[in-house]
Amino acid sequence: MDYRQYFSDELQKLHNEGRYRTFADLERRAGRYPEATHHGVSSDQRVTVWCSNDYLGMGQNQEVVSAAHRILRDTGVGAGGTRNISGTNHNHVRLESELADLHDKQAALLFTSGYVANMTALSTLASRLPDCVVFSDEQNHASMIEGIRHSRAEKHIFRHNDPNDLHRKMSRVAPDRAKLVVFESVYSMDGDFAPIRKICDVAKHHHALTYLDEVHAVGLYGPQGAGVAARDGVMHRVDVIQGTLAKAFGTLGGYISASAELVDFVRSNGSGFIFTTSLPPCISAAAYASIRIVRDNDALRELQQERVQKLKHLMAAAGLPLMQSESHILPLMVGDPVRCREISETLMTEYSIYLQPINYPTVPCGTERLRITPSPVHSDEDIDHLVDALVAVWARYSLRRAA
Ligand SMILES: *Cc1c(COP(=O)(O)O)cnc(C)c1O
Repeated sequence: MDYRQYFSDELQKLHNEGRYRTFADLERRAGRYPEATHHGVSSDQRVTVWCSNDYLGMGQNQEVVSAAHRILRDTGVGAGGTRNISGTNHNHVRLESELADLHDKQAALLFTSGYVANMTALSTLASRLPDCVVFSDEQNHASMIEGIRHSRAEKHIFRHNDPNDLHRKMSRVAPDRAKLVVFESVYSMDGDFAPIRKICDVAKHHHALTYLDEVHAVGLYGPQGAGVAARDGVMHRVDVIQGTLAKAFGTLGGYISASAELVDFVRSNGSGFIFTTSLPPCISAAAYASIRIVRDNDALRELQQERVQKLKHLMAAAGLPLMQSESHILPLMVGDPVRCREISETLMTEYSIYLQPINYPTVPCGTERLRITPSPVHSDEDIDHLVDALVAVWARYSLRRAA
């Protein structure tokens, strides 16, 4: 086989379909976010980042940065081992107890990323619970799909955010089998919320365990930023809450929080937890500092929501076709991968605005979009400039306007 030819043909296909991925070469500057330097092909340029998941700008928070510095200086860079063999640091232990407290659960377990948390926890639970059946929302994130697939458990996909469909599918499975219902609270590409209470009602009616990915919600919703389940008063009905330290908390790492027994079970059996080096202690210290600040800071959450509402309002007034979304994620529909990339390039080169095109397979074909995530550090001028630029670009490409 001509391996190089194969790879190059496959890449050419991606180019032809307009979904070859190119990365923006960025340099963020602590203290100046959302501004970053974009290292372009011929020159460098200062741009405003509008698509980061550092939703609250905590990645540059002075206290968070100082916490990382202090532990980096005191303990060095790496953790030095897996959690089992010399790699459990006091900063991990303290962080796990903070996370359990945040979600009002008995225990929490850290992973090197949110992806690894989903992959490991779901594959461990679904493969080891005897004769387990998994019910998974059709829009679940790749990390959850991979975890479920890896478990080889029987799987049923229910219609997105549809408790009735979930009920129908659960009713067809023998009542005494182990069941796991897997869903997200905020869906990252459409920005919509799950009906958590209703899904829990159905799941509990069928005696299932519930597993909720709150990656795009922790830090942002509910009392102390504990998430949408907390906001809706149903956190205690969700058996496993999974989250990340890399989005609103601005650092790195993922976790699950649940009962002491469930967490101990994943800790004792989860391959992606056991056989990998633990997070650097300085990162865990930064995450801990970030969570403490964010829990106490309703004003930060309110400011983010205020920025979101302001941008939404101005975009609607300008006739830009924002998708309906109640969350902080604002999807602006383009509907064509090539056009989506062109718009993104024009915004970058002519308006110093960085908005990454979101194409298949991240979203379904025909729903290519720009995904805008306003944060407390975006100013009025940033917002005005973005709306003006989008209006100009929409006119130039004769794109569809909202009614
Ligand atoms: C980003 C994301 C993850 C993975 O989290 P990381 O910490 O970035 O690995 C998991 N679930 C959802 C829904 C996500 O969007």
